[in-house]
Amino acid sequence: MSASDTSCIFCNIVAGRIPSRKVYEDEDILAFHDIHPWAPVHFLMVPKQHLASLAHVGDEHAALLGRMLALAPRLALQEGCRPYPQGGHRVVINTGDEGGQEVHHLHIHVIGGPRPWLKG
Ligand code: 5GP
Ligand code: ZN
Repeated sequence: MSASDTSCIFCNIVAGRIPSRKVYEDEDILAFHDIHPWAPVHFLMVPKQHLASLAHVGDEHAALLGRMLALAPRLALQEGCRPYPQGGHRVVINTGDEGGQEVHHLHIHVIGGPRPWLKG
């Protein structure tokens, strides 16, 4: 992973230079509410280290990505999603321009709550 990039919006959020509404934080991971939510629950999970996209993930990131995915349902419940199977949530990782990625710092969207949603 490369170091923090001062031109990257999510690196600036991790560094506290841009404010965010925090959902969770540990040594390696930050989760915060999306500024333009598509649904009643919509937060983003990012690695604290700058990593541009899922296409940049290698074997050395497997543990980190595994921890992020394992954490997603727990944080979804914490943020108000109802439990599986009646509740649940969606996990989205947009990757590259054609994948709809706008911010080039890997992030996992966790989206849920009562429908209808703005997107999806
Ligand atoms: P992407 O399209 O790259 O998968 O998603 C980027 C997401 O980041 C979008 O849903 C957008 O609303 C969110 N976002 C962009 N800038 C900011 C910001 O400054 N703060 C927060 N909390 N979310 C942001
Ligand atoms: Zn970054």
